[in-house]
Amino acid sequence: MNRRKFFRSALGVSAVATLPSFRAFTADTSLGGEIQAVKGSGETTRVERAAVEELRSNLRGRILLPDSDGYEVARRMRNRMIDKRPALIVQCVGAGDVTEAVNFARHYELLTAVRCGGHNVAGKGTCDGGIMIDLSPLQGVRVDPIARTARVAGGSLLGAMDAECQGFGLVTPSGTVSHTGVGGLTLGGGLGRLARQYGLAVDNLNAVDIITADGEFRRASAEENPDLYWAVRGGGGNFGVVTSFEFALHPLAYQVIGGTIMFPFSEAKDLLNFYPDYCEKMSDDMYADPVIFAPPGGAGNMVYFEVCYAGPHRNAERVLEPLRRAGKPIFDGLKAIDYVVLQRSSDDTDPRGTGQYLKSGFTTEISSELVDNLVEHLEPHPERGGMAFFQQCGGAIGRVASDATAFAHRYANHNLTVGSVWTTGIEDTSPHVRWTRDYWGSVEEFTHGFYANDEFAVSPTRAQQNYLGNTERLVAIKNKYDPTNLFRLNSNIRPSLGGG
Ligand SMILES: Cc1cc2nc3c(=O)[nH]c(=O)nc-3n(C[C@H](O)[C@H](O)[C@H](O)COP(=O)(O)OP(=O)(O)OC[C@H]3O[C@@H](n4cnc5c(N)ncnc54)[C@H](O)[C@@H]3O)c2cc1C
Repeated sequence: MNRRKFFRSALGVSAVATLPSFRAFTADTSLGGEIQAVKGSGETTRVERAAVEELRSNLRGRILLPDSDGYEVARRMRNRMIDKRPALIVQCVGAGDVTEAVNFARHYELLTAVRCGGHNVAGKGTCDGGIMIDLSPLQGVRVDPIARTARVAGGSLLGAMDAECQGFGLVTPSGTVSHTGVGGLTLGGGLGRLARQYGLAVDNLNAVDIITADGEFRRASAEENPDLYWAVRGGGGNFGVVTSFEFALHPLAYQVIGGTIMFPFSEAKDLLNFYPDYCEKMSDDMYADPVIFAPPGGAGNMVYFEVCYAGPHRNAERVLEPLRRAGKPIFDGLKAIDYVVLQRSSDDTDPRGTGQYLKSGFTTEISSELVDNLVEHLEPHPERGGMAFFQQCGGAIGRVASDATAFAHRYANHNLTVGSVWTTGIEDTSPHVRWTRDYWGSVEEFTHGFYANDEFAVSPTRAQQNYLGNTERLVAIKNKYDPTNLFRLNSNIRPSLGGG
C-alpha cells in the first residue's frame, strides 16, 4: 500500500483500553500481525506489522522492535534508574527519516519520545510502549569559519561540536560534560563554562531546521517563523524535532585556565560562605562551580570547585588567588588546558553518570543558612552517594530580557542541584529517592523556579508555570505547531485546544 494512502487509512489502528499507570509496559510482539503500543493519551493500541514494515522500507535508518538486535542498548538512557521499553525505536539518519517517524507517530497517536544524547535525568528521551525517535545516528558538525557559524545535526553530542569548532579556534557555549546531547541541552537553555561570557546555548542559536508535529519541515530564525524561533530557545522539545542547529561562534584561544581545586571537607562551610562574595567580584570570563560530594561507598566527603577562566592568561593568577587562599587546598589542578580537554574532564567522574535522582532550583542568593543546610545534611552512606553543586549563571545570561527567548530564568545567579547517586543496578530506588527529597526539603525554600532540563517528578501544572511570564505565549505557539501534544515528553507546555 502506498504510504500516503496508508496514513490516511483508519484501518491500521484500534484503541483497546487504558493502561494502568502502575503497570510496567512489556511490548507484546506475539500478536502476529500487530504490535501492541501505547498512545499519548495512555490508551493501548495496536499497530499493524505491515505498517511498521512500510515505515521500515521508507527509512534510511533502522527500526528496532523489542526482539531486534540492538534494542536493549538503544533503549537505555544515561540515568540507570530509567528502565523503559518503547514499542518501537526509529533510528533516524536524516531529516527525511525524522519526517517519516513523526508522521507515523502522529497517525497512530503514539506516545512519542525524542532522544538525542539520552542524558535527560528524568528519562524524557524514552517511554514505555510508545515510539522513540532516536536521533543518535543523526550526527555531524559543519563549521563555517568565515561566517563564524556551526551547523550541528540534531543528534550530535557536545564533544563533537566543541572539538570541530576548536579546530578553527572557535567556540559556542555549551554544557560541561561532552557526551550530553546538543539537542536536549540547547532547547532547554544550555548552561556551561562559557555562558557567563557568551550567554546560554540558546542565546547563540541563529536558526533551527525542525520537523513540527504536522510532519512539515520548517526553518526557524529571526526572519523565518520567528514565533517558533522564540519558542525553541528555552521551550524544549515541545514544538517538534530539530534536525539541525545553527550556532554563532566566537574566537577562543586554544587554552583556558581550568580544572579542579579540592579542599578538606571541614572547610566546606567557610568555602561556600566565601563563594558568593567571590562571584560578586568576578568578571564574565571566569566560571567556578562549587561541589560538595559524598561518594557512594561511604568514602570521605569532598568539597571542590570546577573552574574555567577564559580570560587573558596574564590575569589568571590574580583572578584565581582569592579562591586558592579561601582554604587550604589538598589538590590544586588549576592549569592551562585545552578547552576541549577541560570539556571532557568530567565525562567519567560526573556523579550524574550513575543511577541518580536529582532535584534542582535556581538561586539568587547563597545565604549562610542555605550553606549550613547543605553541608550538615550531606551524610556519607555505604550504598548511596550524595551531592550538591551550584552551576554558575549570571553575566551575559542575565543581560538578556526574560521574554526575549522562552528561557525565563534570567534573574538566577546559580542553579543548585542536589541528589543521590548509586552505582549498583536497578534495584529498589526508594531509599535514594527519599534521601534526595529529604535533602531537597531542607534547601528548596532558598530556590525560585527550576531549570527545565533538570525537571524531575514535578506536577504538569508546576512544569508549565515554570515558564513564568512566557507561559501564555508558549501555549499559543504550542496550539499552532503541536495542537494534539504529540511532543509531550519534555517540560511540557499543554495546548489549550484539547490535546493536553
Ligand atoms: C552528566 C550530565 C551533565 C549535564 N550538564 C549540563 C550542563 O553543563 N549544562 C546544562 O545546561 N545542562 C546539563 N545537563 C542537563 C542536560 O541539559 C539535560 O539532561 C538535557 O536534557 C540533555 O539533553 P540530551 O539530548 O542528552 O537528552 P535526551 O534525554 O536525549 O533528550 C531530552 C529531551 O530533549 C528533547 N530533545 C533532545 N534532542 C532534541 C531534538 N533534536 N529535537 C527536539 N527535541 C529534542 C526531547 O524533548 C527529549 O525528551 C547535564 C545532564 C547530565 C546527565
